[in-house]
Amino acid sequence: MEDCLFCRIVAGKIPSTKVFEDDAVLAIRDINPQAPVHVLLLSKRHHASVVDASRADPAVFGRIVAAAVKVATADGVAERGFRLLTNTGPDAGQAVPHLHFHLLGGREMGWPPW
Ligand code: 5GP
Ligand code: ZN
Repeated sequence: MEDCLFCRIVAGKIPSTKVFEDDAVLAIRDINPQAPVHVLLLSKRHHASVVDASRADPAVFGRIVAAAVKVATADGVAERGFRLLTNTGPDAGQAVPHLHFHLLGGREMGWPPW
């Protein structure tokens, strides 16, 4: 989608710091990191959110989780732990309507997340 920010990043039209890529997933550093490790796992195919992806391409979730574990291991946070999440819709504060998961690690995080 031409007017989608993350589609433009996947297409290489907007620069990003790539940490992992395969045929289904592109992992990049978040531009505004909220933790020492803050990576975005983008699906290469455009889906607005997990709701759309769960209908159109449910296998993508396994690909994203597998990629996230690889990145967490490479970035040295797999042992102490990390958070893998996706914001969905306005109540969750989803700003970019293209399927992505956040991988956050490198510091302790609170729970619940408000
Ligand atoms: P959301 O709120 O949709 O779950 O998360 C969107 C994330 O994308 C935010 O953490 C924000 O910092 C990040 N972001 C927004 N624009 C860009 C960009 O151009 N490049 C990168 N690498 N991250 C971005
Ligand atoms: Zn998109």
